[in-house]
Amino acid sequence: MLYVDGEWRGASSGRSFEVVNPANGVTIGDVADANRTDAAQAILAASVAFNGWSRLTAFERSDFLYRAYGLMMERKEALARLMTEEQGKPIKAARNEVQYAADFFLWYAEEAKRVYGDVLPAPRSDQRFLVLRQPVGVVAAITPWNYPVSMITRKVAPALAAGCTIVVKPAEQTPLCAMEVFGILHDAGIPAGVANLVTTANPAPIGEELVENAAVAKVTFTGSTEVGTMLAARAAASMKRVSLELGGHAPFIVFEDASPDYAAKGASLVKFLNTGQACISPNRIYVHKSIVDPFLDVLVERVSRMRAGDGLEEGVSIGPLVDEQALEKVNRQVGDAIDHGATLHIGGQRLTEDGLDAGFFYAPTVLSGVTPEMEIYNQETFGPVAPVITFTDDDEVLSLANNTSYGLAAYVYTHNLSRAMRMFEGLHFGIVGVNDINPTAAAAPFGGMRQSGIGREGGREGIAEYLEVKLGGFSI
Ligand code: NAD
Repeated sequence: MLYVDGEWRGASSGRSFEVVNPANGVTIGDVADANRTDAAQAILAASVAFNGWSRLTAFERSDFLYRAYGLMMERKEALARLMTEEQGKPIKAARNEVQYAADFFLWYAEEAKRVYGDVLPAPRSDQRFLVLRQPVGVVAAITPWNYPVSMITRKVAPALAAGCTIVVKPAEQTPLCAMEVFGILHDAGIPAGVANLVTTANPAPIGEELVENAAVAKVTFTGSTEVGTMLAARAAASMKRVSLELGGHAPFIVFEDASPDYAAKGASLVKFLNTGQACISPNRIYVHKSIVDPFLDVLVERVSRMRAGDGLEEGVSIGPLVDEQALEKVNRQVGDAIDHGATLHIGGQRLTEDGLDAGFFYAPTVLSGVTPEMEIYNQETFGPVAPVITFTDDDEVLSLANNTSYGLAAYVYTHNLSRAMRMFEGLHFGIVGVNDINPTAAAAPFGGMRQSGIGREGGREGIAEYLEVKLGGFSI
């Protein structure tokens, strides 16, 4: 269903598309398949609603967001179960994501009231300078399937807090989670037209409308670098504001002074989170030569205990990949690495036993002896493969880690303070975890450098993305 101007309705064409559980191929829903006309109607509704919403006080907008937070917390379990069915991640991870998603409503309910102006020193005695921060206008948001609830609230909450109205196009794999989020916004009493949802199986025409429609002031996108770059180029034609959260190729560096056990535990937890389908997933695990053997022992032992399956089942920590193409990409990268001399320690094939053939399951995999000639060393995997590379020298590993066009997340394990600081400062990545695998929260700025994107989500930076700065010069 589409949610446009405060009402649920079908697509104007009457068409719909099926949503499938990636763990077993079972159809779990049938959703309206919007076309470009539907997107234009949603933009019109957001445009009409902008005047009223942007004129509310920050306290009033904040109240709506607090209500949305409360409702999401009440519905946490049902939403988590739906996420597991629709996206495949294990239920515990789904609960964590709903909490993270709700945190954005709470954080921006608070930040709505902290959009301050400035009074600046002026060069003339009869002059005064004032700076106002005002909402940019109608926002178009495109979100991915891998974090199907939090990637929506991370955009909707700051946009609404700032006084913007919004049209969201969620990923075609996960429209049901998006509909639940909009059910929450509706029940929180958010006025008609302020937040609109356009579900579709065919994103390209909707994307064209979102980036070309003159009423849209800002485009915010989370997804692949390829699609994000294309949309940003088209949005530039009408000078729309753009925020992009794109792909990554995170280095994970373990120095010789770190505990190999502790670092391997961290690597196993963050690498296999969401079956490796995370933009901050480590894609190059650099381990100092002197500790690579104990590191690999612990990593392989931990991976050997991971169980793949339906995320609603107790004890499952590896869910399915999103589709057949994702399986093929992972399999190709692993095959290419082995062909070029990498050692396979565990995994390395599709899982088909015990009914897993009905879903897109790949065995959690550990490779060592990975080198720059291999595809996996250079391309984002988005799957459950840990590629281990050995190094011997600090400067060498820093330069290797930075030698990528991406710049989203990086991880460093060391107990040496100077080394930690040198790495934190020297890594060209927007997020650096030092002995820490989860440097993300609603209060923290999330985003990438270079081809990983433009702008930040979360934190006080997240609301700035939806505000224009206006200078007033007054002669008195
Ligand atoms: P994708 O770019 O194919 O899809 C993302 C979104 O873009 C979906 O809503 C999709 O429907 C839409 N889309 C696809 N083609 C489009 C078009 N022509 N016009 C308009 N919209 C279009 O990405 P994906 O493969 O589904 O998602 C995985 C990627 O997302 C990975 O590269 C990952 O690193 C990235 N990601 C980044 C972050 C981050 O915050 N940086 C978070 C999650 C995922």
